[in-house]
Amino acid sequence: NAEPNLRIIDYKDLQIGELIGIGGFGHVHYGKFGDVHVAIKTAKSLTSYNIFSTSTSQKTSMDDQSDAVHKNLIDGLLREARLFSNLNHPNIIQLFGVSPCLATKNLYLVMEYAHGGALSELLYRRKSGLFPNVFIEYAKQIADGMRYLHGEAPGLVIHRDLKCSNILILESIENVHDDYELLQKTLKITDFGLAKKQLQSSSMTTAGTYPWMSPECIRNNEFSTKSDVWSYGVLLWECLTGEIPYKGFDQMQVAFGIATNKYSLPIPSTCPEEFSQLMKECWHVLPQNRLSFNELHDRIVKIIETNYSNAEL
Ligand code: ATP
Repeated sequence: NAEPNLRIIDYKDLQIGELIGIGGFGHVHYGKFGDVHVAIKTAKSLTSYNIFSTSTSQKTSMDDQSDAVHKNLIDGLLREARLFSNLNHPNIIQLFGVSPCLATKNLYLVMEYAHGGALSELLYRRKSGLFPNVFIEYAKQIADGMRYLHGEAPGLVIHRDLKCSNILILESIENVHDDYELLQKTLKITDFGLAKKQLQSSSMTTAGTYPWMSPECIRNNEFSTKSDVWSYGVLLWECLTGEIPYKGFDQMQVAFGIATNKYSLPIPSTCPEEFSQLMKECWHVLPQNRLSFNELHDRIVKIIETNYSNAEL
């Protein structure tokens, strides 16, 4: 069943170029749709499932297995596209449409191309956090996109995988020489592969990545707007430090530590004074005591108006 806003794109109108990202389930390619630069996400190729077959009977069962896995990936992509197609906000990547292809037996999600790549790549490459003005501007943009998902978007959308690797920079950053130029960039939230509408939350399956997950998510799979707020706190930490949270730690140990409230990330010394309290309020043990994205956005706007509107970097 086609969603009202889900546009079907003819595969012949797409030019698929180089591979630019490999995720858990999908491949992302650079491409062109007419004259427009696009990113094209598709299910991972499953050739590795077939090469292990030795006899005809085995081959058949492996092929069946491969088909089932492939179908699951396509179903996942279609779910992502249906949810994505209803979203319309300047801080969220826009989906142009989907393109099914019989020849390749694949589905292609055609989206707005972010020239600057993932925010995590910029941060981890420089291995240092963002300058305060840039940090606060980016914190505001992401909070704005998230309050749309939790408020105005059709159906309440819980992202469930909010982290710097799922934040893209719209404009190119190739010729950026100082942080002042980063201030002008537009951030876009992406990857709705794990996102769910609130109404479907009772059947939620495990999602997310431990270092970004709240204790109640790890313990009981309780994803909510407030678990997105927890992840946003971790995302702010990435922006301040330029590091991967709990890097080098055993992931099961991290999961156990967070779930039992024994592990918490230290507020970095570079954190602007007004933000320390805000980050703590994202990481409140009780979800109901965490801030909402509406509150976060309003608080950040006030901080900018009071302290940063005329400040030099
Ligand atoms: P994950 O395992 O994180 O869920 P995924 O398969 O869902 O991955 P995405 O996270 O959507 O895929 O994208 C993987 C990578 O591809 C991103 O980190 C980014 O580098 C690149 N990418 C995705 N979408 C775009 C886009 N619209 N413009 C430019 N690059 C993109």
